[in-house]
Amino acid sequence: MSKLYTFHGGIELPENKQQSTGRPIGTPPLPARLCLPLSQNLGNPAKPCVAVGDRVLKGQRIAEADGTVSAALHAPTSGTVVEIAPRAFAHPSGLAETAIVIEADGRDEWQPRQGFPLWQSAEPAEVRRFLRDMGVVGLGGSMFPTSLKLASETLDTLVINGAECEPYISCDDLLMRERAADIVAGIAIVTRLMQPKQVLIGIEDNKSEAIAAMRAACMNTPYRVVAVPTKYPSGSAKQLIRVLTGIEIPHGMRYTDMGVQCFNVGTVYSVCRAVEHGEPVISRIVTLSGAVARPQNVEALLGTPVTELMAWAGLSPRNDGVILGGPMTGFRLSDLSVGITKSSNCLLGSSPKLFPPRPPAMPCIRCGECADACPAKLQPMDLFWFAKTKDFGKAQERNLFDCIECGACSYVCPSQLPLVDYYRFAKSEIWAAERDKKASDRARSRHEFRLFRIEREKIEKAQRLAERSTAAKAAPQTATTAGTNSHLTPSAEDKSAAIKAAMERAAALKATGKESPVMQSEEAKQAAIQAAMERAAARKAAREAAGETPLQPPSASDEAKKAAIQAAMERAAAQRAAQAAASVGLPETPAAPIVPNNVLDDAKKAAIQAAMARAAAKKAEREAAEVNQRSGAAPATNALDDAKKAAIKAAMERAAAKKAALDTADAAPPATDTSPAAPAAQPAAMDDAKRAAIKAAMERAAARKAARDAEQGRDTEQDKDS
Ligand code: SF4
Ligand code: SF4
Repeated sequence: MSKLYTFHGGIELPENKQQSTGRPIGTPPLPARLCLPLSQNLGNPAKPCVAVGDRVLKGQRIAEADGTVSAALHAPTSGTVVEIAPRAFAHPSGLAETAIVIEADGRDEWQPRQGFPLWQSAEPAEVRRFLRDMGVVGLGGSMFPTSLKLASETLDTLVINGAECEPYISCDDLLMRERAADIVAGIAIVTRLMQPKQVLIGIEDNKSEAIAAMRAACMNTPYRVVAVPTKYPSGSAKQLIRVLTGIEIPHGMRYTDMGVQCFNVGTVYSVCRAVEHGEPVISRIVTLSGAVARPQNVEALLGTPVTELMAWAGLSPRNDGVILGGPMTGFRLSDLSVGITKSSNCLLGSSPKLFPPRPPAMPCIRCGECADACPAKLQPMDLFWFAKTKDFGKAQERNLFDCIECGACSYVCPSQLPLVDYYRFAKSEIWAAERDKKASDRARSRHEFRLFRIEREKIEKAQRLAERSTAAKAAPQTATTAGTNSHLTPSAEDKSAAIKAAMERAAALKATGKESPVMQSEEAKQAAIQAAMERAAARKAAREAAGETPLQPPSASDEAKKAAIQAAMERAAAQRAAQAAASVGLPETPAAPIVPNNVLDDAKKAAIQAAMARAAAKKAEREAAEVNQRSGAAPATNALDDAKKAAIKAAMERAAAKKAALDTADAAPPATDTSPAAPAAQPAAMDDAKRAAIKAAMERAAARKAARDAEQGRDTEQDKDS
């Protein structure tokens, strides 16, 4: 014999259960259409997974769970989906809710049923997932997904609620009477998943047959069936836990925090049907009572219209409506075409005789009767006042949400105040305000994040620009430092020399702004050659300074290169000399090769050629001296002098020979067309051209010879030094 406890408040009510317990659970005819709201559970409505026109089988999933707090929905019978649209919903608000409408085909054809036979060895999470997909929710009225309630840890006591305290309602009573074995099987599955230390099955002592059936079913189990005193609202979870265990759930805490979990007998029955038989939640036991001819409990398919059920029960023609739920917690339906849901436990035909209109409300007289009856230890008259004046903050401070809406306060109120209506109104207003606040917070968070993102992008852009600016400033400084650093790299030197040469060329071009383009080009070439030579000398000096290679005399190949450079420079000098001569009054001639002009007289040509030879000799001497000075080699002065002298002598001899030839030609008689000497007397212009070409070739050969002589002279000097 277990020790029982009591809870604060509570009232005794006429039971009115016997009307519906005299018949077994009936099966009403298959409705023509089933209307299934997607909101069949607490949390997110299920998401449809069928479309209009689809044929579905009994037990087929038609909507999937959407999120953690959600459960699937299944077709209660075979047929065709004919509509997915907002339809009237069984709710006090009377608002519409999206529903799937199935037109039954009359065959009631099951899909292949697949249970979960290995539930005893499976991971609890797998079983919970299976139950979620089978649409199992709390059938005691909470509609909370059972899979979530099964996830509780460190459970001490599992309470199975069979109290069913509200008048007229007897669905759990009949379920326990007729299907106790399946209830116990469901308890076994839940016990396997939660591993509680004890299992207590609480049943009000006015249900003797149900108690007997359950005790018989639990004969070989550790589960204890406990008959609890009939007192409203002992069927509320907190009150039943208090009665069975003595545990009082403090404000702000859940009973799972106290190591207790509670399931309705209808819920564990549906767990068994799902796991053992592969049947999802497609029906439930509903009490049809009140002003009806044949009060009875029926197993009704979800979505069955209220009108069809009440018609089958024989709704009295003198009815004034239908109440969904019991007389204490239920509400009048505004539309009887709505389909029943997983939480629809009772339909009461209402009549003025059974449920007379409530007398007009009177002012609160502060009698305190309501507080005495309140099982939640609240001050209902204060909550009423705050709700009426819309002081919802104060109502919350007085634990408005601890109210289980049992209606005991209203029942005892001598002023006939509809107190529960005020509480429901206050709760809905607070929930709406919280929804608005959450939406506002989300919008503000999005806006603040957008501002943050814009500011962050600005900062990142400024940082990138600053880094680029710093790098750009550091580059010239590095180049300048490298120019004065002994650890110069050849590339840096080349760049520096190139810049310097470019600047020199620019200066030279500016200084010779009136010179012809040809002269400017020659000057540029000259400057480029000079710059290249300076760069080579700088690299060589750097290598020597770094000790990479010892000082070596110029090799034969270096000398050959120098000679080639000198020859090129001599040719350029000769061209410049020719252009200079042209600038002082002579007709302009191409720079190279020297092409004879038939208007240029031989005397002038000879003078020009002599000047060019002298300039070439001087240039060769100067370049050789510079190269020798940079390379550190001893200047071959004697050799250069000899070369210069030889070049000058050769040029003078060529000029004299040319002049003599010209004089001889001038003294000869003019040729006639009939003269036999006519072939030898070619036009003077052709002779001049040939002579000029021959002279230029000879001068170039002389320059090359001078260079070779100079090289031989240096070799000789070095041999002497060694
Ligand atoms: S029972 Fe009614 S009249 Fe009495 S205190 Fe409560 S609300 Fe006021
Ligand atoms: S309806 Fe709320 S305030 Fe009234 S008795 Fe029940 S729990 Fe208390």
